[in-house]
Amino acid sequence: MNKKWVLIILCLWAFIRLSFAEDIQITKIEANHDRGFDYLDIHTTGYVKAKGLLLENQLLIEFPNTQISKAIEISKRKSERIKTISAKQLGEKTAQIVIELKKDIDYEIVNVFGRNKSVVEICDRIDYAERLMAAWEKANLKKKAPALKPYKYAIKDKAEKLPLQGKVIVIDPGHGGLDPGAFSRSGIPEKHLTLQTARKMASLLNSAGATVYLTRNQDRTVSIKDIVGFANEVKADIFISIHYNFTNKKEVSGTETYYYNRNSRSLARIMHQTFINGIKRKDRGLRRGMFYTIHHAHMPAILVEPLYISNPEEEKLACSANFQNEIAKDIVRGVEAYFRSQGH
Ligand SMILES: [Zn+2]
Repeated sequence: MNKKWVLIILCLWAFIRLSFAEDIQITKIEANHDRGFDYLDIHTTGYVKAKGLLLENQLLIEFPNTQISKAIEISKRKSERIKTISAKQLGEKTAQIVIELKKDIDYEIVNVFGRNKSVVEICDRIDYAERLMAAWEKANLKKKAPALKPYKYAIKDKAEKLPLQGKVIVIDPGHGGLDPGAFSRSGIPEKHLTLQTARKMASLLNSAGATVYLTRNQDRTVSIKDIVGFANEVKADIFISIHYNFTNKKEVSGTETYYYNRNSRSLARIMHQTFINGIKRKDRGLRRGMFYTIHHAHMPAILVEPLYISNPEEEKLACSANFQNEIAKDIVRGVEAYFRSQGH
């Protein structure tokens, strides 16, 4: 066979694949258990790149350009982690599998090319970095700190209609002064990284029309009581605390988003989804955590941990001005999407 024919056949194959691309179906969901893991084998009629989103005790798996077969089989195997599995169509082109969970998990999705299936691996949550946070808060609440010295980014030009006009946003760069927070693998204190990122967030939010306060704009010791007191006093519309995550297992990585009060849930869900689609790190879930600031804030309040500085790859990202900027852009996207969802 000469080269011309090979090319024609390749083009035809690509054409056929593309024309049938929208006809992929999910035919079967099989649940298995092996070596301490739960596995879901999701069988499809073609290769699909499925994406996951962990929102507390609900794991959503989205399949773009996919239909759910009318004859879909869903196994009902008993599991200590999975409560129910269901499949639904989201609009015409996206299929979604909803997994209701009984406990805290971590997960991974492997889209197997050539075998037409996606495998969801589910295990018990590997690490609880928020326990370290709780210990830090306890210590912070006991210590004395100088008066808060917040920094205001006021709106400059009111002529133009901007998406966040009229909104007051308080940004809290985690730690500061005598409290360095965690140290990255190469010894950079979290307090520096949170301040650098917070400044980028504040500046972009301000350009989008918001009045923004940083709870500190220098390396200064702060009290979390004063921070939340300030956010309540200026009647902020939303409060965002930025931290970088840390654990003693260097392989642990990814993005976690926290909220506590019910009125913060929607902001937290939107922000977590924006990070997972934006900076695209491992999805370590939207979680409810009783941290002091987000617990005592009167307005929707979240605490974001976009990266683990104890992970070698994510430490590099956290120290990169470009990547900090990507984080800040996701924050603006998330905040704008949140206010749109509220009809503002
Ligand atoms: Zn921290």
